[in-house]
Amino acid sequence: MTDEPHDPQAPDLIRHAEGFADRYTPYDTPRPRRHVAVVSCMDARLDLFGLFGLDIGDAHLIRNAGGVVTDDVIRSLAISQRKLGTREVLLVHHTQCGQLTYTDDDLRNELLLETGYKPAWTPESFKDLDEDLRQSMRRVLASPFLLYPELVRGFVFEVESGRLREIRIPEQD
Ligand SMILES: [Zn+2]
Repeated sequence: MTDEPHDPQAPDLIRHAEGFADRYTPYDTPRPRRHVAVVSCMDARLDLFGLFGLDIGDAHLIRNAGGVVTDDVIRSLAISQRKLGTREVLLVHHTQCGQLTYTDDDLRNELLLETGYKPAWTPESFKDLDEDLRQSMRRVLASPFLLYPELVRGFVFEVESGRLREIRIPEQD
């Protein structure tokens, strides 16, 4: 729960959308032109288009808290590869991630105390960025549902410097 004051933003966003059609260019295919899927944290500071030089239509961007490869990310990747022609998977974790600031039990207990329920899902918080990224890479490599699991690469984006650092796992060597 947060007590921060908040002015509703949706009206402003919707007003902006009203002018969008005037500068909109439709694309004729849902298949990403560069055959790439990026799985990254939802962090509002990450500009994946700027970072990787992507344009609209180039890649699937699959985002969640932490950029963790969960079962639902595997669902999206399986559809991305099998129905929409992507091959390579880039995973992006980042420094200063919110997932580093609490533990799974913290959040589970907070939810239990406030609502009377523990969630069926795992919060997937982590203490070690590189290790969590390696775990996500291994989940891709181990998935029986993906056509090109071996084409996964993992990176940590440093929000302080804008640099991208590749993380490798022994299975790739
Ligand atoms: Zn994050």
